[in-house]
Amino acid sequence: MGLTSFAPAVSAQDSAKPLIVTSIKPLAIIAKSAFKDRVRVEYIMPAGQSPHDYVVKLSDIRKLSSANLVFWIGPDFEVRAAKQFAAVPATKLVTAMNLIYPDHEVTATDSHDHHDQDIDPHIWLSSTFAKQLVENLSKRLNLQSGEVFSERAQKITEDLLVNAKKGNYVVHHQGFGYFVEEFELQSGLSIRDMRGKQQGAKTQYNLRLEGKKRGVSCVFIEPQHGHKDAMAVAKDLSVPTTTIDILAVASDAELPSYESYIYGLATQFSACFK
Ligand SMILES: [Zn+2]
Repeated sequence: MGLTSFAPAVSAQDSAKPLIVTSIKPLAIIAKSAFKDRVRVEYIMPAGQSPHDYVVKLSDIRKLSSANLVFWIGPDFEVRAAKQFAAVPATKLVTAMNLIYPDHEVTATDSHDHHDQDIDPHIWLSSTFAKQLVENLSKRLNLQSGEVFSERAQKITEDLLVNAKKGNYVVHHQGFGYFVEEFELQSGLSIRDMRGKQQGAKTQYNLRLEGKKRGVSCVFIEPQHGHKDAMAVAKDLSVPTTTIDILAVASDAELPSYESYIYGLATQFSACFK
């Protein structure tokens, strides 16, 4: 079927394609990798801002209502935008957390005590989860999906990380668990918690003690958080800082493939241990 290869790039045809609107850029990367040019994909949260703190604008609400499918993580992740996402009709809303953890389903109207704060919401970092999410998107859009993370991609990413496997490090916020698990890396120390919140003085102090004990190689800075705290920890531990960009802030306007996004993270991660 040569449909796509002969289709001229005219906007009339573009607007006939389903529009997927995501909260964060990595979810847009997953959707685009799965359906390529058969869909339009947009994300609303500026990549340089912490999605845990982002407040939805009026223009975002317009975008949400023009979408055929809205794809977000869930109320424990896009905490301050949860109301607006939850207001999207269920027929066009895909809540990633509820697909991956169906037993812990929450809605934005639940009281905060009901939320399972222990579940790591950074689920897009697991290619296994990414594939599960794509399966659901595919059903919802009635569109066949392509492969988002091949065995070959898995293999070359693993190879890249070989020398980083035993490395100790500090991350900016506790958001790397799935990446660490998937590639069997050491779990690192983190300066901020899972929602990017600063931690108390005692925790900060213990982090420095533990960092010294483990002999960490670097402190990873995430562009969406302020640099100050990470720089201070690095200084106290006398180790360099390096950037790890889980929100794909630095990638061009064009969405990279999910494979190259994960490979990029692995490249950044291994830079700590060179
Ligand atoms: Zn986070």
